Amino acid sequence: MGLEEDALDYHRRDPPGKIAIETTKPTNTQRDLSLAYSPGVAAPCREIRDAPSSVFEYTAKGNLVGVVSDGSATLGLGDIGPQASKPVMEGKGVLFKRFADIDVFDLELDADDPDGMVQAIAAMEPTFGGINLEDIKAPECFEVESRLRERLDIPVFHDDQHGTAIISGAALLNAAELAGKDLDELEVVFSGAGASAIASARFYVSLGIERENITMCDSAGIITESRADEVNRFKREFASDRPEGDLADAMEGADVFVGLSVGGIVDQEMIRSMASNPIVFAMANPDPEIGYEEAKVARDDTVIMATGRSDYPNQVNNVLGFPFIFRGALDVRAREINEAMKIAAARALADLARQDVPDAVVKAYGDEPLQFGPEYIIPKPLDPRVLFEVTPAVAEAAIESGCARTELDLDQYVERLEG
Ligand code: NAP
Ligand code: MG
Repeated sequence: MGLEEDALDYHRRDPPGKIAIETTKPTNTQRDLSLAYSPGVAAPCREIRDAPSSVFEYTAKGNLVGVVSDGSATLGLGDIGPQASKPVMEGKGVLFKRFADIDVFDLELDADDPDGMVQAIAAMEPTFGGINLEDIKAPECFEVESRLRERLDIPVFHDDQHGTAIISGAALLNAAELAGKDLDELEVVFSGAGASAIASARFYVSLGIERENITMCDSAGIITESRADEVNRFKREFASDRPEGDLADAMEGADVFVGLSVGGIVDQEMIRSMASNPIVFAMANPDPEIGYEEAKVARDDTVIMATGRSDYPNQVNNVLGFPFIFRGALDVRAREINEAMKIAAARALADLARQDVPDAVVKAYGDEPLQFGPEYIIPKPLDPRVLFEVTPAVAEAAIESGCARTELDLDQYVERLEG
């Protein structure tokens, strides 16, 4: 059976879908039921009314994330509407559960503007420990997220923006080290100026890239000052004072190419025009801006390459981020996922890639040698150590940056995660 048929069968098999709710307390006797519901349930209600933070003690809020979408930018399928996006959101729930034991309600909203989205999601704040925004199109996604972050006292995290930024940011830290270049000297070219590109460019600046050294291209070419009036304010943030030109012009002499646009728009000549030992992150899915082998053989020096694909080295896969970032945030009851927490996650991932890889992980990936170098700059998605490294780093950053509601003994916490 082909993948498509297999996927339909997988989802259709009884019970339909791939996620369900289960109870966590006994429900066998009349007594149990009168504790779970009326009249016993009134007791925790009163406790929470009188001491709101006890909601984390008496309900599942602290381990519950809302995965919320309007379906306006679903995978590579475009605006397929909220209902058609439900398999994706249920799938996100599966990943949250599988990688970090976090429970998810997937919420597909029939809301057709940012106001409607913000209104609906803000009203749901009491239910959740955190909100993962998903597959909302640019530029609306920036507004929805920033308004919600301002308004809500729980983490709000648009994964298509920050997940990509954090994972590729980790890869960039290691790639720069391997290329022997300092971050503040890297000339970085972006192809794409949408949700993931804008967020990644912002995050790379947090990591130490100079904003002036970023050149961003959209489908009309380099975003220059002269085009500033015709582009949205998020693109304008990265308008450069260089002359107008296309992607090929932008890539000449660049140290880093970051592709978050569409497949097949970069050729070998463009790779050859880059600076020595270039870093090429061609992350368009399912087909990268330039293929892995094509880029690798374009030049004699080392091309440090990453893509979104699982069949080549250095897969930039968001599953390396969101489960563990939310796990750490929830466990300290964080009020937000801030820049310090995102940087901590990226650094933890980068550090982990420099450590020896356990045999079990090597085996899971077909016995290919995994050792820090151009072919291995980020951990593998199925490496269980990601939980033990990224999660406590995020929790610690939350505590240190003052957005945690509870303290945590970090050594004990790591032990608990490992158990
Ligand atoms: P998006 O918000 O729709 O942005 C797409 C951007 O690509 C737009 O700025 C668009 O330009 C630009 N673009 C389209 N055709 C182009 C061309 N021929 N040359 C240069 N730029 C072009 O999408 P997104 O969510 O950021 O995702 C973009 C791509 O990155 C997708 O392929 C997605 O699958 C991939 N991605 C991969 C990962 C990963 O590997 N982990 C993570 C996130 C995204 P205009 O603004 O002019 O329309
Ligand atoms: Mg997504």
